[in-house]
Amino acid sequence: MANIAYPPSYYAASANPAPARPALREDIQADVCVIGAGYTGLSSALFLLEQGFSVVVLEAARVGFGASGRNGGQIVNSYSRDIDVIERSVGQREARLFGEMAFEGGRIIRERVERYNIACDLKDGGVFAALSAKQMGHLEAQKRLWERYGNQQLELLDQRRIREVAGTDQYVGGLLDMSGGHIHPLNLALGEAAAVESLGGRIFEQSGATRIDRGANPVVHTAEGKVRAKFVIVAGNAYLGNPDTGACRQVDALRHPGDRYRTAER
Ligand SMILES: Cc1cc2nc3c(=O)[nH]c(=O)nc-3n(C[C@H](O)[C@H](O)[C@H](O)COP(=O)(O)OP(=O)(O)OC[C@H]3O[C@@H](n4cnc5c(N)ncnc54)[C@H](O)[C@@H]3O)c2cc1C
Repeated sequence: MANIAYPPSYYAASANPAPARPALREDIQADVCVIGAGYTGLSSALFLLEQGFSVVVLEAARVGFGASGRNGGQIVNSYSRDIDVIERSVGQREARLFGEMAFEGGRIIRERVERYNIACDLKDGGVFAALSAKQMGHLEAQKRLWERYGNQQLELLDQRRIREVAGTDQYVGGLLDMSGGHIHPLNLALGEAAAVESLGGRIFEQSGATRIDRGANPVVHTAEGKVRAKFVIVAGNAYLGNPDTGACRQVDALRHPGDRYRTAER
C-alpha cells in the first residue's frame, strides 16, 4: 500500500513534530479495535484506555488525515439548527440533552488539553458578529435562548467593544461566547494520539481496515495484518471506502454496519 501523506494545508505546515507510526504487519489482540484516527476514534480510544481497556487504533493514512486535521478549529456550542428549533422537533427533555452535549464537547477538549498537556494553541472565546441591527436582534435572542440552556458565559458587544475584539469597524455589535474557542485541529489530533500511546494504546498508520469478520470475537483485517478484538468501533467518517485513503472498496461493507449486520445475523 502506498504511503499516504497529509494534504497540503496551513495546519499540516505548522503541525507539531509527530512520529510516523508503523503499518500493522502482524496478528495482534486488544479489547477494542478502533478504525480511524480522527477525533471520534482517538477520543473513543482515550476514554476506553482511561477505563482500563486495551485499544488498537487502525488508521488508513495518518493520524488526523481526515476532517479532524483540517477543519476550522472552532469550538462552537451550537448545531446547524438553533436549539429552539431542536426543542420544537424533539421536545424539551431531549433538547436539554443536546444543549448539554454541545457544552460537554468543549469541556472534554479543555480537560484533555490540560491533562495531557496538548500544545494546540487553545484560545477561549468566540464571537458571533452582526452586520446590521436586525442581526444584532437575532444575537440578543440567541443569548436569551442559550442562557435558558445553561450558558452563562455570553456577553453582548456594542459597536465599540466589537471593534476592540475584532479589530474592525465593519460590525454593529456581536455576541462573545467565552465557552467557545479555537484550536489548531491537527495538533489536537496529534496530541490526543500521543495521549493514547502514553496510556498504552497502539496506533498503526497506513493500515486501512479492509474487512471485519463479525462474531463474538471480531477480527479486523488490514492488507498485512489482523486485530482480534472483543469490540470494534468504526470511526472512519466519510473516508470509509474512499480509495484515496487506501481503504479498499470492501470497506463499503462497514459504511452502513447496522443494516449489513442485521441482515447478516438474521
Ligand atoms: C472543512 C471543514 C471544516 C470544519 N470545521 C469545524 C469546526 O470549525 N469546528 C468543529 O467542531 N467541526 C468542524 N468540522 C467538522 C469536524 O472536523 C468533524 O466533525 C470531525 O473532525 C470528524 O471526526 P471523525 O473522527 O469522525 O472523522 P475524521 O477526522 O474524518 O477521521 C476519520 C479517519 O478515519 C480514517 N479511515 C477511513 N476509513 C478507514 C479504514 N477503512 N481503515 C482505517 N482508517 C480509516 C480516515 O483516514 C480518517 O483519518 C469541519 C469539517 C470540515 C470538513
